[in-house]
Amino acid sequence: MEIYLDANATTPVLEEARLAALSVMAQAFGNPSSIHGAGLRARALLDEVRATARRVLQAPTGRLLFTSGATEGIQTAVLSAMVHLREQRRAGRQVPGCVLYGATEHKAVPEALAHWNALLGLELRLLPIPVGTHGRHDLAWLRAHAAQAALVCTMAANNETGVISDLDGIAAVLKGRDALWLVDGVQALGKLPLHLIERRIDYAPFSGHKLYAPKGVGLLYVREGAPFTPLLAGGGQEGAQRSGTENMAGIAALGAVLTALEGGQTFAPPQVLARWRDQLAQALREAFAGVVFNAPFEVSLPTTLNLSVPGLAARTLLDLFDAAGLRASGGSACGSAKARPSDVLLAMGLPAWQTASAVRLSFGAADSPEVMAEACRRLKACGDALREACQTPEPAAVPLPAEGITRFVVDAACCYILADRAFRECVVVDPLPELTQQIAQWLRCRGCTVAAVLDTHGHGDHASSAEALRAAIADLLPPPEPLDALGWPLGAAELRFGAQRLTRLAVPGHTQDSTVYLLADAGGLRAALVGDTVMPGALGRSDFPVSAPLSYVASLQALEGAVGRHTLLLPGHDYDNRLATTLAIECAAQPLLEGALSGRLGAEAFAQAKAALERELAPTEFDTMACGARVDDCGMAERVEVRPADLHDWLQGAERLVLVDVREAYEQRLSPLARNWAGAAGAEVEAVPLSVLLSRLPDWQRLPADVRLVFCCRSGNRSAQAARALRRLGHRQAYSLAGGFALLPQADARVHRLNQTPPPAAGF
Ligand code: PLP
Repeated sequence: MEIYLDANATTPVLEEARLAALSVMAQAFGNPSSIHGAGLRARALLDEVRATARRVLQAPTGRLLFTSGATEGIQTAVLSAMVHLREQRRAGRQVPGCVLYGATEHKAVPEALAHWNALLGLELRLLPIPVGTHGRHDLAWLRAHAAQAALVCTMAANNETGVISDLDGIAAVLKGRDALWLVDGVQALGKLPLHLIERRIDYAPFSGHKLYAPKGVGLLYVREGAPFTPLLAGGGQEGAQRSGTENMAGIAALGAVLTALEGGQTFAPPQVLARWRDQLAQALREAFAGVVFNAPFEVSLPTTLNLSVPGLAARTLLDLFDAAGLRASGGSACGSAKARPSDVLLAMGLPAWQTASAVRLSFGAADSPEVMAEACRRLKACGDALREACQTPEPAAVPLPAEGITRFVVDAACCYILADRAFRECVVVDPLPELTQQIAQWLRCRGCTVAAVLDTHGHGDHASSAEALRAAIADLLPPPEPLDALGWPLGAAELRFGAQRLTRLAVPGHTQDSTVYLLADAGGLRAALVGDTVMPGALGRSDFPVSAPLSYVASLQALEGAVGRHTLLLPGHDYDNRLATTLAIECAAQPLLEGALSGRLGAEAFAQAKAALERELAPTEFDTMACGARVDDCGMAERVEVRPADLHDWLQGAERLVLVDVREAYEQRLSPLARNWAGAAGAEVEAVPLSVLLSRLPDWQRLPADVRLVFCCRSGNRSAQAARALRRLGHRQAYSLAGGFALLPQADARVHRLNQTPPPAAGF
């Protein structure tokens, strides 16, 4: 059962609202502009909802228009204010040249300001009002700039942090000034009294879907006498202030919500909401050591908790919550697909780790104590799952096995832990500074010792973090011995850890010191860690002062001599999530590599062709320096998805089919695949987290060609990476479950309904 803790993004639709909308669609479907009975009934409903809205918003006078939502309301308000300014200017009046807007406004405000400013050719200066670490506007700054302001935009409460603006303080600063004032009331509706009239607010947009009405309906309040220009012209609806036939189903639903709000029975009062928040905060503290809340509760909506956990990326926390059936979001919903730090938290000046790992839990006033209690229980279960999966500083009660090859990725840079499972001995290759603590924790929690920390090359542009990692795990390393600059014990021909063995091969080119590590066990060569010498779709750039471009061809030929064309190559950078490659695959995709290995290109010609490719290499999408020129996007466009319905059919068929859950161990603990989808029962099921997939790729490459492997995960993203990687490596029957678990029919059927006591979720 799903517990929805993302109410600031949108809310479910209140039962009464749903019924009101259905009744309008089924019976009272008239057009309020018609003058026959059906139309008159619709008109009466429209008037009644508007009257209720006026009472709820304490807006007896002024305009109150139905809109499609807050974005439209904001456009209308901004357009109205800016057209007024243009008229003033045209009439030769002196008008201030700035618009001030809160630095933490929802994007709809600054984007609308920039849009209309440009379209109307006003050339107003748009200045963000800074906020303090508490998230509230800097009133001293506002005071200093208010005289230059033609329009001031400040939200009532923030969607990411819940921080409530000091509207009285702002009103006091603006008192006696001509500046128009827009207050985005979206997150305040139903949670805070806005006193629209008393505060002399000029424009206040609202949105139905943030308060249990459906999407596509909203309200815009415009103070009596404030400038107004319609955004939509046409049939003259809403007194010609907002043309377009009214969304009667949405308006009826909004009316039902506003009536419930007036009635006072449906929604929990502020003190109850504050108690629920305290319960959630306490559960979070128990689950996640060191959790910090990114906005002070004293000045925040009681329904919003914005938090960061040291050492845990937002993505990890969200995956974890999702596995526990808790739907939360990272920062704002618009931003949750991107791994960018939150602009709101950046504006608050919070430390980088907090801004990059922030997660938002937001509930609604129609939730119930039972739902909150279950949410708390699941949060604690999340903490337990993390501990058991070695993701927290405390040691696990039972150490986990150390898988053969574990991969960590930061902005496309890859670090590997090679482990001998039986002996619990490891080697770390290409440690990254962001991972020092995480890797130390990983090793300790599994009770591993470490034979070496190695780099595949010196970087030139940044220092290796191997030294920092060695210091953090000094007690796990062998007694100090002399090492070369890449961490290899001086004079050693090979490095043994358990039953595994590493040897090395010098491959000058990308850098003079570039080195390949060859991983072998009793069964022979298993993989080569090639650093940036060969990457999926690219060769390492060789235009650094520390590069050796004329040695590249000989190095590639030496690599081929040592590993052949089909050994798995594990790269130092993997820009397109291809996981691993081989010389055969890269030869087919990269003419330069093929030229070097076939002897078609000599050292000089190769170096020249490569230099031409690398001229003015753009930075990566992570704003890091590109380590090579990518020349192919091999396989990225290929569709690997299988729809749940087709998978169902396949399961009935005769072919062998293996379902592989590639979520990380902590997610699998909370909701094993078989529990996620009853249809999985009876299928062959494997749990292989994406981070350790490399250990299994060679086995899957050897599968008979007709065995279907279907990878699955939370959203279909990680499983697509796995399926593509395996296809490139030769097993064509590799698929990704489209849409992930979220689209499986069973998952839909169990969404929690409002005010319904959730059944206890077994086994969390
Ligand atoms: N303003 C705030 C504070 C919001 O949270 C949102 C929605 O996330 C909007 C404006 C935009 O609202 P709508 O989705 O109704 O256009």
